[in-house]
Amino acid sequence: MIRKVLVANRGEIAIRIMRTCREMGIEPVMIYSTADREALHVELAGTTVCVGGPAPGESYLNMKNILAAALGSGCDAIHPGYGFLAERADFAELVIASGLKFIGPRPETIRLLGNKARARQLMMSAGVPVTPGSDGILDSVDEAVDLADQLGFPILLKADAGGGGRGMRRVDQAADLPAAYVEATNEAEQAFGNGALYMEKLISAPKHLEFQILADAAGNVIHLGERDCSLQRRRQKMIEESPCATLSPELRDEMGAAAIRAAQAADYLGAGTVEFVLDNDGNYYFIEVNTRIQVEHPVTEVLTGIDLIREQIRIASGQNLTFSQEDIRLDGHAIECRINAESPEQDFRPSPGRIERFVMPGGPGVRIDSAVYPGCSVSPRYDSMIGKVIVHARNRREAVRRMRRCLEELIIEGIDTNVMLLYVLLYEKDFIRGTYNTEYVEAHLPRLLEYISNPEAYDDPVLLSVPEAYDDKEMSE
Ligand code: ADP
Ligand code: ADP
Ligand code: MG
Repeated sequence: MIRKVLVANRGEIAIRIMRTCREMGIEPVMIYSTADREALHVELAGTTVCVGGPAPGESYLNMKNILAAALGSGCDAIHPGYGFLAERADFAELVIASGLKFIGPRPETIRLLGNKARARQLMMSAGVPVTPGSDGILDSVDEAVDLADQLGFPILLKADAGGGGRGMRRVDQAADLPAAYVEATNEAEQAFGNGALYMEKLISAPKHLEFQILADAAGNVIHLGERDCSLQRRRQKMIEESPCATLSPELRDEMGAAAIRAAQAADYLGAGTVEFVLDNDGNYYFIEVNTRIQVEHPVTEVLTGIDLIREQIRIASGQNLTFSQEDIRLDGHAIECRINAESPEQDFRPSPGRIERFVMPGGPGVRIDSAVYPGCSVSPRYDSMIGKVIVHARNRREAVRRMRRCLEELIIEGIDTNVMLLYVLLYEKDFIRGTYNTEYVEAHLPRLLEYISNPEAYDDPVLLSVPEAYDDKEMSE
């Protein structure tokens, strides 16, 4: 059994992992950069090791120093969290070669699925529907132009090594393709050190639905239901909920079975997420597997009562799942809002700085996973997500109301945040009905920002009232 874990991350996810370690009687060792001396994950820690300077390359991406910290402090495993080294197969290999356990899938699986073009091919052979697109990576702009003609515009250029919405370009007509190709390649090269691109047909106004999966070494693979992550800005998620308000039980079963086939095809081990887009006619298409814990994992945890970090650690220690697919119950409804230090009015520009006042929501059915406190500084060097509010209630109607009141309680002063935008979204008719898609936020942003900048709009009885669609029957599904 694992006894001491180095948490190779920072922020809310580092704290999240530390909490489960402690509950399991496992000692967590926290790392930090010189910019993070006063960060909450260090404040709350017992053992800490400084692994380098402020730039991620010097610290949170510094494999050598992180390994030395783990070995020097007597750890027997490393948990990578999300971002940073979480999806680096070479890091997982190094951890294992050093005699430590890597809390995540096998390195071969990370490599295979991290190659998104190759992952598409694997999924096709496993009978998982994928979007129409390229067979593997594109070799040239000319090839891209020919293929786009066959597929029909609009198309998406996507980075083979992509993540976090980067290296992706929508192209609506052939004339725009060459420039978009260069932009996407350059962005991918910068972000991932790999400029390779592939192409997918753009699915119009889809939902982003993803399935949480768990797989153990004995070959048991189960799914823990879906998360609807369609409310996105710049292809990054803002609000996630489960269950999806518009997914039928039949389609849930079918997509869940496809997610399990996807995991089996990759010889999956541990916790992972199979992402799909779902079009307006109920067709679903695989887009990628994230081989790590996901930002929005709490939604599934509160719904199922299963601690996903605990399952990751148990599986990495060689233990098998103690429950099967039939045991999984999705109890009630859960919603998560990501709180970002950013200015929606200024094209979502990050807003680092000192948090002067911070008051957290609380009460029944509320979970806060956050890394900030009054007086702390949000660094411009790291991700702008500073925390998450997760609510759980008996049904969707109550969960929506609960989230609204949480955002009313939440006070953050000193920096700009996206809280008002999240709040306004919770009153949108399409949100209330669950009919929103991945294009929703961007399509309605000017109007939403108008509400925010003009507080009188809040007194608008139409905005504050509960539309007819919001009746108990529709909301309690
Ligand atoms: P999800 O939110 O579904 O877990 P995201 O794609 O939003 O997945 O990524 C989660 C976090 O990891 C974000 O903070 C994002 O910035 C970061 N991230 C994602 N992919 C990469 C990558 N390849 N390199 C560095 N950071 C990444
Ligand atoms: P990343 O690795 O950056 O998370 P994904 O492949 O998961 O990249 O895509 C990110 C987002 O882009 C999805 O959540 C979805 O909103 C959108 N997207 C991706 N592929 C398609 C597609 N073929 N059609 C429409 N939207 C897509
Ligand atoms: Mg994705």
